[in-house]
Amino acid sequence: MGYGMPIAAPYLALAALLGLLVGSFLNVLIYRLPIMMERVWAKECAALSDLPEPVQAPLNLMVPRSRCGHCGHQLRWVENIPVLSFVALRGRCSACGTSISWRYPVVEVLTAALFAYCAARWGIGPEAAVWSTFGCLLLACGWIDWDTTYLPDDLTLALLWLGLVSASLGYSGVRLDDALWGAVAGYGSLWLVFWFFKLLTGKDGMGYGDFKLFAALGAWFGWTALVPLILLASCTGAVTGLVMKWRAALREGGVLPFGPFLAGAGFVAMATDPLNLLYRIGL
Ligand SMILES: [Zn+2]
Repeated sequence: MGYGMPIAAPYLALAALLGLLVGSFLNVLIYRLPIMMERVWAKECAALSDLPEPVQAPLNLMVPRSRCGHCGHQLRWVENIPVLSFVALRGRCSACGTSISWRYPVVEVLTAALFAYCAARWGIGPEAAVWSTFGCLLLACGWIDWDTTYLPDDLTLALLWLGLVSASLGYSGVRLDDALWGAVAGYGSLWLVFWFFKLLTGKDGMGYGDFKLFAALGAWFGWTALVPLILLASCTGAVTGLVMKWRAALREGGVLPFGPFLAGAGFVAMATDPLNLLYRIGL
């Protein structure tokens, strides 16, 4: 994961701008993908039990156009500009005045920062492109899991394949065999912990999505990064869980999804380059 040539400010601004647009799309993805998944499950359940297929208005990542969640007001293009519209509307729907969630501009700004970081670190090229995609998929995984406790295969598996391909093409800076064993050991280790915990307590401590997400991180950072990654995710998850329990903010059943903490560890690994870090501290 070498550092590219210094990059000129206009390119950096362009990367950030592209990040804002992609972030706007990520908002749609984070909101709609879980609904799309639930609709597929409902259809499958109906088909299995010979019930009529549920009738629903079409919904995918393109259709319908963005609208206010409260009054259904369809957003005009001037109301749909990343961050700027939110600021201009002072965070309220122009039709009914209901406040718009702070999450929309936050996701847009985070994605812009991600793109600018990747461009600054790797220059404009395939490395910056694959690491930006890595960050987008990770952000969506973490956010969706936090909201719904789902980790969509469409995202975790895409992240895994892209990690292996990036290693193979030399874009992620990890050797292909390290990436492959990272994926295998990432999946296998959490699978073992899951079954050990289940046989011992009869409870599900995690979901299969967590195994896939950890496998993906193994593919991006190599097997040597798995221990620091899981330690970081577990510690931040445990602290967050305790704080939320203390403030009675946990969801029903006391479930805290693990995906957001794995995703967070992935971002830390991307920013700190765990392999170099381990070499530097002599491990
Ligand atoms: Zn409205």
